[in-house]
Amino acid sequence: MLKIKNLHKSFENLEVLKGIDLEVNKGEVVVIIGPSGSGKSTLLRCINHLETPKKGAIQISSTKVDAEKSNKKDIQSLRRETAMVFQNYNLFKNKTALENITEALLVVKNMTKDEAKEIGEKLLVQVGLKDKRNSYPSTLSGGQQQRVGIARAMALNPQIILFDEPTSALDPELVGEVLNVIKELALNNITMLIVTHEMGFAREVADRVIFMDEGYIVEQGIPEEIFTNPKHDRTKKFLNKIV
Ligand code: ADP
Ligand code: MG
Repeated sequence: MLKIKNLHKSFENLEVLKGIDLEVNKGEVVVIIGPSGSGKSTLLRCINHLETPKKGAIQISSTKVDAEKSNKKDIQSLRRETAMVFQNYNLFKNKTALENITEALLVVKNMTKDEAKEIGEKLLVQVGLKDKRNSYPSTLSGGQQQRVGIARAMALNPQIILFDEPTSALDPELVGEVLNVIKELALNNITMLIVTHEMGFAREVADRVIFMDEGYIVEQGIPEEIFTNPKHDRTKKFLNKIV
């Protein structure tokens, strides 16, 4: 489903991704952990070309974008195959919960208002926000806003959803409701790549855990392996610090 090959990214002289190889299968939930600054967000942002890689290739289904010979059309289809859920929700402040979800359906898919509304309302039910359809983001809690963000990400039916620390801006008591929505998606066979510091959640939801440090994938495996029997010192050190 997703295939990343020898991905490199630099900001000026700072090399942030130093040759990432990663494959994610359809329906798989892959969690990325690692210290701050290790390149996790940059990796997600390179996948949908919010950042332009310096070298390497990204392939989602039949769309392949090679950094050395990319074109706009392929980048556009790559973006269409992905959706991103951000740390700070990034909702449209002047749109209701429902409008936030239907916007892309109207603009990108040229659906009629009724068609978009039907899908939007279904998604609101799925994230437990049926009653909030006409609420503006400022009147919603952080957890509710993030659930709208997740519904919005699902609206275009992407091949893969990328989550960048979806709960790290939330008050502790609101983290659970968002993680529960993501867990439910996992049960529904949605393909996801999730950056998180929630180790309990990672353990529960991940098919595979990836530990990143200093621009490299240091090790990966099933949660049990990574959390109870990490092989690399850097992974051990990171987990000792965080748990
Ligand atoms: P993580 O998400 O693992 O905390 P990031 O991918 O955000 O790490 O950042 C990796 C490194 O790249 C950090 O040193 C960060 O300061 C740097 N970086 C990220 N984005 C930019 C940018 N737009 N311009 C310059 N440096 C950046
Ligand atoms: Mg980050």
